[in-house]
Amino acid sequence: MKAVRFHAHGGPDVLRYEDAPEPIAGPGDALIRVRACALNHLDLWQRRGMERVEIPFPHISGADLAGEVISTPNGEFAPGRRVMLQPGLSCARCAACLDGRDNECASYDVLGYRSQGGYAEIVKVPVQNLIAIPDSIGFVEAAAFPLAFLTAWHMLITRAKLRAGEDVLVLGAGSGVGQAAIQVARRHGARVFATAGTDEKLAKARHLGAYEVINHTSQDVPAKIREFTKGRGVDVVVEHVGAATWEGSLRSLVRGGRLVTCGATTGHAAQIDLRVLFVRQLSLLGSYMGRKAELLRAAQLFFAGELRPVVSETFPLAEAGVAHRRLESRAQFGKLVLIP
Ligand SMILES: [Zn+2]
Repeated sequence: MKAVRFHAHGGPDVLRYEDAPEPIAGPGDALIRVRACALNHLDLWQRRGMERVEIPFPHISGADLAGEVISTPNGEFAPGRRVMLQPGLSCARCAACLDGRDNECASYDVLGYRSQGGYAEIVKVPVQNLIAIPDSIGFVEAAAFPLAFLTAWHMLITRAKLRAGEDVLVLGAGSGVGQAAIQVARRHGARVFATAGTDEKLAKARHLGAYEVINHTSQDVPAKIREFTKGRGVDVVVEHVGAATWEGSLRSLVRGGRLVTCGATTGHAAQIDLRVLFVRQLSLLGSYMGRKAELLRAAQLFFAGELRPVVSETFPLAEAGVAHRRLESRAQFGKLVLIP
């Protein structure tokens, strides 16, 4: 089969479109013909290389995909059935897994992280990771959904315990998690404020449901939040930007507010004045991926047309390097999707 692999860490040039052996299904595995695979920041980290994470070479990235079933272990899905995939892999036997907190499993992994992923024509995945998609949902849209919406759902609903009527600040509206978080927060009755770096992106954020928007390159985010909330601050901040925004995110919170973070694309070293933490009674919440059951709940709203992943652009699989550069430039609004 054709796949995009890298044999060493580095820039987008290490991504090679080449022949690769087809995956062989082990016990419990389904084989899927990939029709679309969305990019995530995780793909960039893998390609560049990370401290303390060994990635087997040659490596195929890709956590977010949709396609057609080739085979399942016991005929659970008919060949040709259209599916999208749960990106989280877990043991299904430990206490965390059996308790439904599979993203806290000690062996938790993301498809395409240490395993081979979806930048390929065929992928193997445990059959329990398959989610059938209705005919009304296209492959590109389906591939753009799982990771971003799972992450946003876990952050807002499970970690931050968002309630109707609360105010939420979503950073980076044009990112995968940003566009998902605006929609999930709105769907749960929150008033959403969103930031982005260009007026064009801000207009799109409003269109997705943001009540007020802030240009983070020309405006002071905490000052605008104070203005919009009449000095109060927001109940929840959705963070994934990291070092560049951390301090402003803390200053945007109301007393008793919650900051929930799933990433640090601008740097992972951040400071906090402990007096602010305790006097203002803030909660700092980490969030990583989400639970399989959460994705199934979010998928029901997706299939009903109430949540819609925003697709910025598609690329042929062979142009994965071009797509990586686009993601690194942050020029996109929404997801970038590869088509084998
Ligand atoms: Zn487990």
